[in-house]
Amino acid sequence: MSDDEGFLRFEGLPPMSRQAFQLHSFALVDSVQRGTPGFVSDDYLGSIPAETSVAAIELETAGLWTRRDGGYFVNESSMLNALLTFREEQDATAAVCRERGHHDPMEDGDWTICATCGVPLERPDGKPVGGADGTPPNYDD
Ligand SMILES: [Zn+2]
Repeated sequence: MSDDEGFLRFEGLPPMSRQAFQLHSFALVDSVQRGTPGFVSDDYLGSIPAETSVAAIELETAGLWTRRDGGYFVNESSMLNALLTFREEQDATAAVCRERGHHDPMEDGDWTICATCGVPLERPDGKPVGGADGTPPNYDD
């Protein structure tokens, strides 16, 4: 990656602004977490406190995003495939903890994480943690 005159260059991707790259990356992660891999909804874009329309237009102009009803379809597959592979691995390790009925606590600085599935079990910021019965954190509340 290089950064000249505010544009980032990644192998296999057109040059893009830092804002467009961040939006592309975060939106892809969110699309996988929502169970709609590769689809960036207008609701998601509207939920971001920063201005996103310029970056979205940049991504559309670059051919990475295509307008669809209610959002954008992402045309770039390498990052999406990496995220999906990571998600499948996470799902497999999460199943180990659920079936075992407990996590495997491991100290990591101020945090305690599960050595098997990697979910936080104690964290200083008060955000959701995995359940004592091996369930993953509930991020929906
Ligand atoms: Zn676990």
